[in-house]
Amino acid sequence: MSINRRGFINLTSLGIAGFTLQGFVDKASINGQKPIVISTWDAGLNANKGAWEVLSKGGTALDAVEKGVMVTEDEISCCVGLGANPDRDGYVTLDASIMDHEFNCGSVAFLEQIKHPISVARKVMEKTPHVMLVGEGAQQFALSQGFTLESSKLSDSAEQSYKNWLKKSTYKPVINVERQSPKTATSQLEDKFKAPARLSNGEWNHDTIGMVALDANGNLSGSCTTSGAGFKLRGRVGDSPIIGAGLYVDNEVGAVVATGQGEDVIRVAGASAVVEHMRQGKSPQEACRLVVEKIRSIKKEKAADIQVCFIALNKNGEHGSYALHSGFNYAVHTTEGNKLIESHFSV
Ligand code: ASP
Repeated sequence: MSINRRGFINLTSLGIAGFTLQGFVDKASINGQKPIVISTWDAGLNANKGAWEVLSKGGTALDAVEKGVMVTEDEISCCVGLGANPDRDGYVTLDASIMDHEFNCGSVAFLEQIKHPISVARKVMEKTPHVMLVGEGAQQFALSQGFTLESSKLSDSAEQSYKNWLKKSTYKPVINVERQSPKTATSQLEDKFKAPARLSNGEWNHDTIGMVALDANGNLSGSCTTSGAGFKLRGRVGDSPIIGAGLYVDNEVGAVVATGQGEDVIRVAGASAVVEHMRQGKSPQEACRLVVEKIRSIKKEKAADIQVCFIALNKNGEHGSYALHSGFNYAVHTTEGNKLIESHFSV
């Protein structure tokens, strides 16, 4: 990601008060407000700026979540857009989805050589009777809509990562956690996570930009775009383009997006499950927590090997998040500014 993830640890030095890992209460999460946009990881700070250009002018949440994540698709990072890490055969394949306030949705998966998969997903939503297009068909559709075919050459950093990966060619997802101060972590699995969770080449091997927004008219929308898991099997599709798993929006309730090990988000229909908990009256954070805990109970001791995170925004503009492990953060932009919030976590 363009912004070093280590940067967020020093939030207190940026003047953000009331911050502890498990006891943090953010003002905006209590006093819901609109417009508001929230997005995953520190890359969300830049993405939010793109979305805010739309929201601050009274634009729609749908336009905002498309424009916002396009910013990240344009950046070179391990895990989003054409500059990202390839699959094990050396090809970058992209997944994306978008959903508006009226249950309209569109997605693309296993899409190659197209710069803005999120915009192709929007075209699928708006110009076809379908929800999802994949692979060659998705690319063909994109070209028919005026998108151009980009080079299949890897970015310099992806090339380097791929070369490093080829030395061993083993597929073992490395969870994207970054250990916090041992004093504040509450994990009984602490010892398991003492080793740095970066790959030896300094890259993470999965991540996603997911974004949900509430516009001035009170409408919600969401978007999600990723290259999925780096060095994945060719043809692998994660949760991000699957409506109900990586992304879900119900305008009467809230909007949710996921990041982390996609397979484990899919098996619990993650984003949709979080929305349903909010429908039952749970706060965004509590709704995210319940689904993360469900995944943890399914995975048992294997939960140590994966990261799963959700961010949620309800109809009132209240937001929250929850992750399986520490190290996840999300960016929140309101009229009060754009800031990074560290997520609560399970273990
Ligand atoms: N959820 C994405 C996938 O599994 C990756 C991530 O967000 O880290 O494809």
